[in-house]
Amino acid sequence: MERKLAGAHLTINLGALKENYRLLADQAAPAECAASVKANAYGLGIEQVGPALYAAGCRRFFVALPGEGVTLRKLLPDATIHILGGILPETEEIYLEYNLVPVLNSLHDIRQWANFAKTRGGLHALLHLDTGMTRLGLLEAEIRELAATPDLLDHIKIDFVMSHLSCGDVPSDPMNREQLEKLLFFRTILPKALRETPVSFANSAGIFLGPDFHFDMVRPGIALFGGNPHAGGPNPMHEVVRLRGRILQVQDVDSEIPVGYGASFRTEGSSRIATVSVGYADGYFRALGNKAECAVKNIKVPVVGRVSMDIITVDVSKVPEGDCAPGAFVDLIGGAVPLDEVAAHAETIPYEILTSLGSRYYREYLDAAV
Ligand SMILES: *Cc1c(COP(=O)(O)O)cnc(C)c1O
Repeated sequence: MERKLAGAHLTINLGALKENYRLLADQAAPAECAASVKANAYGLGIEQVGPALYAAGCRRFFVALPGEGVTLRKLLPDATIHILGGILPETEEIYLEYNLVPVLNSLHDIRQWANFAKTRGGLHALLHLDTGMTRLGLLEAEIRELAATPDLLDHIKIDFVMSHLSCGDVPSDPMNREQLEKLLFFRTILPKALRETPVSFANSAGIFLGPDFHFDMVRPGIALFGGNPHAGGPNPMHEVVRLRGRILQVQDVDSEIPVGYGASFRTEGSSRIATVSVGYADGYFRALGNKAECAVKNIKVPVVGRVSMDIITVDVSKVPEGDCAPGAFVDLIGGAVPLDEVAAHAETIPYEILTSLGSRYYREYLDAAV
């Protein structure tokens, strides 16, 4: 939406994004650092994020769906693009036309890609082993079946064997080591030709579990966008996303006045309540009502009452009057209100906050260095 016409401004700092890419690439080196940019680059806009990451040196990208791959291919003619979701029915020609390399998640995927590869010559793919998610990837029985029928791979070149961590954000969780050991074991029962194939294991959190988890290629997503890769610990990433809403109205009220739908909040002393132009229709979660904090000029202030569709109400009693006039901005995400804190208040994760960011914002992309 146009700057003047929007109730809230979303600022995405592509300079900080590039710094984050370089930080993760350094941390993971000598492993290659790819980028996970599914769901429109976690809601931040693939059209800007894809080329910015490419400019920072990224040459390999993961998306969920072939449609996302087609979009990205038009932006990045030379990048390697992987489709995490495998192969959707009757999409093989699209993969070829747009040079998309699928992640084969099951024997079903392998057979489908093998049948296609037979008619088209050698085709590339990644092979996903499931070491503890029970979600996507081959479990032990399927790996053994593959090892018994290695000619399935006659026309397929597997560039990487990969797996995915379920608990990487909790470094002390024993699942991390268990999955690592399972991955090492699974490698030994793969068809002989794949036992030395390069490996990809770590997402953002996995990069910070140490070099044992890096293997040959890492695939961070959330940390690129400023999300904290360690649950609870200090955040080593630069802030990429900032959301600021405009004050529409300020009301000075006496005590015991109800605020918002359901009268779920009542003022205690005399208070000043600011109404801010953002609501659940903009991805400001309803769960944040009576829970979250915003900030005005770095002074933290509580969201009081329920979140409405287009509006929240904030108790700005402790903010100097001149700083909270109609038209002034309130920080909703970023600055004094870290993304991870907003997610915690909404009882969710930063991934869901970012991918829910609404379409009514004025979106501004900065390439400022950090
Ligand atoms: C989304 C995803 C990633 C990136 O995970 P982050 O936690 O955002 O770093 C990596 N690998 C797979 C398979 C994914 O689905």
